[in-house]
Amino acid sequence: MRQTLFDLSGKTALVTGSSRGLGYVMARELARSGARIVLNGVDPTRLASAQAQLKAEGIEAETLAFDVTQEASVVAAFAELDKKGIAINILINNAGIQMRKPLLDFALDDWNKVIATNLTSAFIMGREAARRMVARGFGKIINIGSLASELARPTTAPYASAKGGIKMLTRAMAVEWAQNGVQVNGIGPGYMLTDMNQALMSDAHFNNWLMSRVPAKRWGQPEELAGTAVFLASSASDYINGQMIYVDGGMLAAM
Ligand code: NDP
Repeated sequence: MRQTLFDLSGKTALVTGSSRGLGYVMARELARSGARIVLNGVDPTRLASAQAQLKAEGIEAETLAFDVTQEASVVAAFAELDKKGIAINILINNAGIQMRKPLLDFALDDWNKVIATNLTSAFIMGREAARRMVARGFGKIINIGSLASELARPTTAPYASAKGGIKMLTRAMAVEWAQNGVQVNGIGPGYMLTDMNQALMSDAHFNNWLMSRVPAKRWGQPEELAGTAVFLASSASDYINGQMIYVDGGMLAAM
């Protein structure tokens, strides 16, 4: 049978922060499109339950619990994959955290943690993955940005700084590695219904603001990111390098 442009058979994808939320849904869709998947998160119990959930759907997933901010752990994780003969062709740098506080009250440790988790981790993971992808002449890296790659809201300064950084890291990686067959692009989700936004979902004032601001007049469902992830992981996007695609219900298009 003819393979479709979006077929990921024969590819292996590692999605960071895929024990839940957007990462889980993207990993599941890559698997449904034919890829072998490796799940990651910090909490091994949550990771095991994500693996079991997928198994119930007939999807076998490898799991690797490690902290993406720790260089030694990242290096060890890739060494373990090498030892098992698992070559990562697709990497989604998705792990992230949010910390909301007025900038005047931000402690340096908290600032550093948000930057390390949302930005520096993508450098460490991307470098380790790309060292192997460049040698093989093929790879797809997808960095997860945010509306905050473009816009700031009060109380989210380190997050916005990190996500703005993701947009430029995506371009920086793309221009270095495109010649080696490695495409690097990003996805900027709008406001999606995940654990990260629990505080906002139950905040009536925020909900009113969001409904007035987002043209689609609703929150995004995590599943609505999955197609863009498959597209950027597939051969359909082979000549796309260094772009951010925003999946935001039109928010960035609106005044
Ligand atoms: P969740 O809070 O639902 O899930 C976060 C995931 O990241 C979990 O799997 C968590 O693992 C993992 N994680 C956190 N820190 C680390 C770490 N140091 N090392 C490894 N894994 C880690 O987040 P979302 O699914 O909402 O967000 C996913 C990405 O999408 C983030 O980068 C976020 O910034 C971005 N995003 C989300 C939006 C939204 O509206 N939800 C909007 C725009 C961007 P564990 O379970 O072990 O804690």
